[in-house]
Amino acid sequence: MNLEFSPEEIAFREEVRAFIRENYPKELVGLGNREDLTREQFLAWHKILGKKGWSAPAWPKKYGGTGWTSTQRYIWSEENARVDALMPLPFGISMVGPVIYTFGNEEQKAKHLPGILAGDVWWAQGYSEPGAGSDLASLKTTAVRDGDHYVINGQKTWTTLAQHADWGFFLCRTDPSAKAQEGISFILVDMKTPGIEVRPIKLIDGTHEVNETWLTDVRVPVENLVGKENEGWTYAKFLLAHERSGIAGVARSKRGIERLRSIASQETLDGTPLIRTDDFARKISQLEIDLTALEFTELRTLASEAAGHGPGPESSILKIKGTEIQQRLTELTLEAVGNYGAPYARGMTPNGSNEFGVGPDYSNHVADAYFNMRKTSIYGGSNEIQRNIISKMILGL
Ligand SMILES: Cc1cc2nc3c(=O)[nH]c(=O)nc-3n(C[C@H](O)[C@H](O)[C@H](O)COP(=O)(O)OP(=O)(O)OC[C@H]3O[C@@H](n4cnc5c(N)ncnc54)[C@H](O)[C@@H]3O)c2cc1C
Repeated sequence: MNLEFSPEEIAFREEVRAFIRENYPKELVGLGNREDLTREQFLAWHKILGKKGWSAPAWPKKYGGTGWTSTQRYIWSEENARVDALMPLPFGISMVGPVIYTFGNEEQKAKHLPGILAGDVWWAQGYSEPGAGSDLASLKTTAVRDGDHYVINGQKTWTTLAQHADWGFFLCRTDPSAKAQEGISFILVDMKTPGIEVRPIKLIDGTHEVNETWLTDVRVPVENLVGKENEGWTYAKFLLAHERSGIAGVARSKRGIERLRSIASQETLDGTPLIRTDDFARKISQLEIDLTALEFTELRTLASEAAGHGPGPESSILKIKGTEIQQRLTELTLEAVGNYGAPYARGMTPNGSNEFGVGPDYSNHVADAYFNMRKTSIYGGSNEIQRNIISKMILGL
């Protein structure tokens, strides 16, 4: 593998760096990827990228993708991570968009893809249910045909940021008599349809990031079915592979390690900067080694995608290693700031509190990032389940 960037790639990097510098919304600088932003804040950069034609680099060009090579896409994510840019949410761009352009009909493509690209329409993922997470195929939400509508009843859970959603994609059981995986359909639902109730679930870091979504006699036109009835499991699995490959977050973890290095040069242990203590230096180095190994695995996956292979079971490797690194990174950062982290944790200070902190600015939000990142080994299919996939699909055990 040639690891040097070509002159064209270096010019491309300069171009995207300049674009980000000139266009990234000033009010978002320094906010990072937080769950308590407003809908407008979440969508601001997405809308700018939509206008430029850069919101969905991984999509085929004919559906609105950029036509960039895998190396250009890699450079793009690196440049965004460098400034901690708030990227388009995955639900439209990385999840339902690819399902619609791959399995949807022409009307569905024309109706939904432009809004996803432009950042005008917010999507939510209605897969999990109480009792149907890892064992997703046991889901119980039903969609019963009534003339030219489906009538949906059931409860979804952990629906991320559904409080802002315009549309949702839901897995529903359309044939209760079929084997678990065979009776499921993939249905697009307008979240304003009567009978949908989104109830907040508060997380360990104090944020309202996820919800319970209740569906009671929700009438959805039959034309919102994607692909064929009872074949939704195939589309659901295709979507999960796309979801997982984006989860690795290599560029962002690199930036996180730089930040950790900077903190560890300023924090001291018995007068010695943490970064010069054997124990802490070893932990950072090990993290960097593991991240570099993951980066090469991701580059190999990108190269194979560029050669026409979709993300397959290898995305489980990216998911496990990427999320373990994100968790270790936030643990080490919390270790570095020590007690300074605690007063800043969301949920530990009253809402609207404007008290001055006791520590340096860099300790701001370190604790809630630590708490929030516990989710990463659970969502997108838990890491234990990814190991099962690797053992079956890659190792053939
Ligand atoms: C922050 C967050 C956001 C999420 N967002 C969404 C969303 O937007 N939409 C959505 O549909 N879902 C979402 N999820 C749900 C997520 O996909 C599920 O939580 C996940 O699939 C695990 O399911 P579960 O929570 O029911 O746990 P369970 O399936 O009950 O698992 C419990 C534990 O048992 C282990 N386990 C289960 N089965 C096996 C097995 N066969 N072998 C080994 N270990 C096993 C699991 O690894 C886990 O540790 C989100 C979850 C979180 C935490």
